[in-house]
Amino acid sequence: MRGIGGETKLDEIIAHVGAGRTLALVVAHPDDDAYGLAGTVALHAAEADFRFVLVHATDGGAGDIRNGFPATRETLGAIRRGECEAAWRAHGRVPDRHEWLGYPDGAVDQVPFSELVDRIAAILAEEEPDVVATFGPDGITAHPDHITVGAATDAAFARFVEGDGPGFKRLVHRVLPTSVFERWQHQRREMGLPVFDTTKAYHGRGVPDEQIGVTVECATVADRIIAGLLQHRSQLHVMADDPIDIPRLRRIVSHEWAVIAWPPRPASAPMLTDMFEGLD
Ligand SMILES: [Zn+2]
Repeated sequence: MRGIGGETKLDEIIAHVGAGRTLALVVAHPDDDAYGLAGTVALHAAEADFRFVLVHATDGGAGDIRNGFPATRETLGAIRRGECEAAWRAHGRVPDRHEWLGYPDGAVDQVPFSELVDRIAAILAEEEPDVVATFGPDGITAHPDHITVGAATDAAFARFVEGDGPGFKRLVHRVLPTSVFERWQHQRREMGLPVFDTTKAYHGRGVPDEQIGVTVECATVADRIIAGLLQHRSQLHVMADDPIDIPRLRRIVSHEWAVIAWPPRPASAPMLTDMFEGLD
């Protein structure tokens, strides 16, 4: 028993071995994660066997700075890292491991692709996550950083799925269903807010509803999601309409949708209601 360090530590180790509840989320920018899977993390937060691994390719240092916010181009990246960490504290569950890959914001598609895949794969190899989540080819907003990070994560995941080791049971792409996206567009038009132009990068878009494999009901944790979102103080003007309408934001974050990118999903498969459903 040398080195185990007491019964509590031993219980932690036993809880983790073969647990089947490790989630790795790989995204591009601070705030992609808050709008990504904060609800799923909140729903599993209290489970002893839940482990949450978060990877950011960039620190978001090229992002817009909200009018009057005390940041400069030089300081924004460090500020956004701090906002991201504060956000997870506010969500109520900090990551068990948080990696910043340190690539330049807005230029992830300039990084040699094999290098990006290698770095993500190295983290996944250590963690053996049961579920890996990232962006799909739509990037939700067609941001080139999102699309590149998603493709690199898919490639990293593919290195492990053929093995018979633990983990790597499901790869999911966080998306918006077209029906929901169209409803939001309609509401925006009615409210006099600018609508998204799906022919342009940096604008939201949906994927066909029939591609959605997981729909997570997050209404019970919506306030925890919002508490985290509001910590991205330098980005509030990009993340929410001004003035911030909390009841509307609550409705926006009340579901998380994903396409199951692996294993292949038959067209007749039932809709899952949790990212881990069916894996035990
Ligand atoms: Zn982003």
